[in-house]
Amino acid sequence: MQDSENTLPLATSTRHAAHGSYEAATTVEDFRHNLAQVQARIAAACARVGRDAGTVRLLPVSKTVEEARLRAAYAAGCRFFGENKPQEAARKSAALAGLDGLRWSVIGHLQTNKAKLVAGCADEFQALDSLRVAEALERRLQQLGRGLDVLVQVNTSNEASKFGLPPEEVAAFLRQLAAFPALRVRGLMTLAMLTEDARAVRACFVRLRTLRDALREAAPAGVALEELSMGMSGDFEIAIEEGATIVRVGQAIFGSRAPVAAG
Ligand SMILES: *Cc1c(COP(=O)(O)O)cnc(C)c1O
Repeated sequence: MQDSENTLPLATSTRHAAHGSYEAATTVEDFRHNLAQVQARIAAACARVGRDAGTVRLLPVSKTVEEARLRAAYAAGCRFFGENKPQEAARKSAALAGLDGLRWSVIGHLQTNKAKLVAGCADEFQALDSLRVAEALERRLQQLGRGLDVLVQVNTSNEASKFGLPPEEVAAFLRQLAAFPALRVRGLMTLAMLTEDARAVRACFVRLRTLRDALREAAPAGVALEELSMGMSGDFEIAIEEGATIVRVGQAIFGSRAPVAAG
């Protein structure tokens, strides 16, 4: 994404000034304010690399946030929430079923015995990384007569603690996914290395974009690779500079969580 004619400096830090100390948002006003700030950061990152801000979808990540605050976020304009645990997504989507047009994205690792929950409540699943999970989801979706947008999670940091397929296994996996009509493959997702080193973070995002570009031409019929889901509160500007089309942002919208390992 780096453009030689571009004079604006790219992000060199994974840390926003306020990162690690976001105040908890509770009122509709709080959410309007935080959403506007995140949208401004998205617009600034887009401007640095000559992208249209309309090409980046902000996915608010609502894990651990209770329903009352989700109602306030909805009132402030959120229509899509990301959850990393299938049980939590199913519980919240049932509790908030009365909110018109609200959709759910499951962004965390899935075990086959939880496929039914995701098939029943999610509009999108971003962490597909095994044939067994694909089979389980396909079976449940067929029973319900519905389809699901999916992204394939790729491990771009080579950290054993991370879920996702190694980049070199993605091409073969996509060929296998062509056999699952209920799974609408939309693109790739990754979590960058958890580090303060902006260059190492950027390298993860470059890896995902390069992989997507290499695979897009030869993608099997029915497999689309338009979406690149990468970037969280601490690193979404870098991700946008490197081509992210979806950024998954929790803390910068909802406030800081107690630190837990991301997977
Ligand atoms: C929690 C989470 C995010 C959002 O992280 P924040 O630091 O809250 O922005 C993004 N992606 C995944 C997979 C997550 O689990």
